[in-house]
Amino acid sequence: MDCRTAEGLVNRYIEHELPVNELEEFLEHVQNCPSCYEELETYFIVHEVTQQLDDNSSESVLDFKDLLEQDISSSRHYVRKKKIGWFLIGVSVCLLIVALAAILVYVLMETAHIL
Ligand SMILES: [Zn+2]
Repeated sequence: MDCRTAEGLVNRYIEHELPVNELEEFLEHVQNCPSCYEELETYFIVHEVTQQLDDNSSESVLDFKDLLEQDISSSRHYVRKKKIGWFLIGVSVCLLIVALAAILVYVLMETAHIL
């Protein structure tokens, strides 16, 4: 992913609207690209400030850098969890196919035996 693509995704990242594959590439890019990270930080802070103004809550968080780091780390966890989920689905499908193939072979052998 290049900087232009990453910059285009900043807003959707903040709104947590990125699909997992884009999210993963985005996180990888901002991790290695200080200028995009800074861009993300700026947008994130603006977003948080606006939201806290809307919330009217008394306990506003002022450590935005920390907040962003938490957000990024929870996004990473999310990506990892999704990937493990897909992996498990993949394994289940493979097992199912193997089981079906085994049943098929068994049935064919039984049929051949009867004939
Ligand atoms: Zn960049």
